[in-house]
Amino acid sequence: MRIGSGVARQNNLAEGEMAGSKQTTLANRAEISGRGVHSDQPVTIVFHPASAHHGIQFLRKGLAGGRERLIYARHDAVTASELCTIIGDTQSGSVSTIEHLMAALYASGIDNLLIEIDGPEVPIMDGSSAPFIAVFDRVGLVRQDAARRFVKILKPVRVEHSEKYSELLPFARGFRMTVEIDFKTALIGRQKKSLDLTPGSFRDELQHARTFGFLKDVDMLRQAGFALGASLDNTVAIDGDAIMNPEGLRYRDEFIRHKMLDAVGDLSLAGYPIIGHFRSFCGGHRMNVSVLHSLFADRTAFEIVEERVSGAAMTDARPRAAALAFAPEAN
Ligand SMILES: [Zn+2]
Repeated sequence: MRIGSGVARQNNLAEGEMAGSKQTTLANRAEISGRGVHSDQPVTIVFHPASAHHGIQFLRKGLAGGRERLIYARHDAVTASELCTIIGDTQSGSVSTIEHLMAALYASGIDNLLIEIDGPEVPIMDGSSAPFIAVFDRVGLVRQDAARRFVKILKPVRVEHSEKYSELLPFARGFRMTVEIDFKTALIGRQKKSLDLTPGSFRDELQHARTFGFLKDVDMLRQAGFALGASLDNTVAIDGDAIMNPEGLRYRDEFIRHKMLDAVGDLSLAGYPIIGHFRSFCGGHRMNVSVLHSLFADRTAFEIVEERVSGAAMTDARPRAAALAFAPEAN
């Protein structure tokens, strides 16, 4: 059965029917092209509908000798998470900067998809998840004949590093997120946001939030081979206490919203929608992935369920000017 077509919200399951619902995939194949923010390499992605229980998998093409590699979008495939989240490895094939695409998938309620990609990095597009959501909206979703499965948090799991932490806590009504950041620059400062993640709340509050970076970090990043594709078209660039993008911010607190968007993408690597409460202070890709490692290392901390969950909370969740760079989101 096709669920809506062409109109933004109709493609996603209504908020009330989230949990306990069926798995979904795209109604048809779709494509998107762009350049990697770090590699600056042109890349084309082809989204292929996939069968129930397939999960989200990348088919990395364009490797030496015409090889291909299938990589599960799961926490145990993550090999680096400093400036972005990378699955696979450089020797046998990897895909980097998957987080904004993964957030769009999670928030759209897409369980099963084969993502064919002909380069090493997901295109950055405008630095947010919105361009990916637009593609999924255009194509629409189909329900599949298999119950959706969730990972339900049964007891607190926490990772910390000095005052920074990320944790997952039991929370019965879906997926709640509480994220806080504290940057030295007064432009950002301390920002905190809580959200019950649903397809609607992601669209209304997070999807357009762009990645950001600091001019002072550009040289170091570029020398290390990062941020080669960063520009004012895909990054909010910060110079001291000033924003260099002529259009300014998309949200007054775009920074915390983007951190939250990143966390949605990273946490989608659980492989199931989460029933629980995620909290972090000055976290980043590394801590987001670490808390998943800790969760799945403790068999008593979670269970995989197919239950319906009441309430509006998400269960169906799914998910540098010419010379500017985006700085470590690992902050
Ligand atoms: Zn990001």
